[in-house]
Amino acid sequence: MIKYFILVFLAVVNFSSYSQKICGTVYDESKISQEIREDVQSFYNRVGNKTQNYGNESIAINNFNPNSGIIMIPVVVHVVSRTLAENISDEQICSQIEILNQDFGRRNADRNQTPAQFSGLATNTEIQFYLATSDPSGNMTDGITRTSTSRISFTDNDDVKSTTTNGQDPWDTNRYLNIWVCNLANDLGGYAQFPWMYSSSPNTDGLVIHYEVFGNTGTLLPNYDLGRIAVHETGHWLGLKHIWGDDGGLCTESDDIADTPNQGNHYGGQCPTTVQSSCGSNDMYMNYMDYTNDACKNLFTFGQKAVMRATLNSGGYRGAFEYILPNMTGPSLVCTFNSTFNLNNLPPGSTVNWSSSSNINISISTNDQATINASNPFVSGTGWLEANIITDCGEIPIRNFFWVGRQQTQPEI
Ligand code: ZN
Ligand code: CA
Repeated sequence: MIKYFILVFLAVVNFSSYSQKICGTVYDESKISQEIREDVQSFYNRVGNKTQNYGNESIAINNFNPNSGIIMIPVVVHVVSRTLAENISDEQICSQIEILNQDFGRRNADRNQTPAQFSGLATNTEIQFYLATSDPSGNMTDGITRTSTSRISFTDNDDVKSTTTNGQDPWDTNRYLNIWVCNLANDLGGYAQFPWMYSSSPNTDGLVIHYEVFGNTGTLLPNYDLGRIAVHETGHWLGLKHIWGDDGGLCTESDDIADTPNQGNHYGGQCPTTVQSSCGSNDMYMNYMDYTNDACKNLFTFGQKAVMRATLNSGGYRGAFEYILPNMTGPSLVCTFNSTFNLNNLPPGSTVNWSSSSNINISISTNDQATINASNPFVSGTGWLEANIITDCGEIPIRNFFWVGRQQTQPEI
């Protein structure tokens, strides 16, 4: 019901020449069972409220996600189209994957637009995405399916998620993030299924995104041309609620995350340039879980990161999801003689570009190994080695830090 209220409200106040796209994922307690409701509250009590030490990643992450490092999620994109325009290009699909990685990795170019008062709360979630390289049968794939449909449009009733209703069936929802791209009616930009619905509804798990708001290339709607509706919906898929608490402008409900200020309503269709306040605090309208225009959203917080990673952690709602956890291993001290670093758990089919700080030489490198040494035997300091995992849709960096110096000058260990 809340969703339709928002629709009517927007129709009244927004006469602009194009329609505003909204998200259909609303945390509506009346729609879920008492048992799930209590379980979700308990989940947030354990994770979301424990992040009240603003910016303290060690508390947020170590207590609730022993898996540190970059979680990489395989994605399959199901393009379900009737018209040529709806059958979006591979390039457009890739652009969306790259946007997910930039935004979830806080490598988005507009991260410097985060207001100073919130910049200390914004973080790299260390959750990344790649187009699947093998299908559920183990065959090679580009991670994209294309289905023609007779349907003029779809709604949020999940018809697009089944061939029996002129859509496409999901791939194993425990191994892939399924994203359906199609023509959505009713000004719906996209919707997602919350992770606590997984056990009862595994066959409708994933996101549905309107084809005119997907990625940042192709024919896209004004204000929704930077792929951030899919970022927002992926946030829901990983357990995030709307930042304003879906209470229709009141201050009674919240997103149950401690480091996002309580906010009255959303900023749908807007792009504030000055401080905005409600519920006695300044609003984080530039959070991906608001409804702000694409160009005005630029952050996830430490608390949101903790919730999303806890969702994927063992014991979380997606604890059984088979993601990849690539990592780099090597010594904590690099000297003038060769040190070897190894990359583990790379996505199949990916290649790697290595780079390093200037006090390091890379003498030999392969896709999963690099041999390095200190370039100056007389200078000690911190150094880093970075592996850029090159996927079909952009690069994903993994960086290791270590001490560089002569062995006799190493710090006490
Ligand atoms: Zn939403
Ligand atoms: Ca509110």
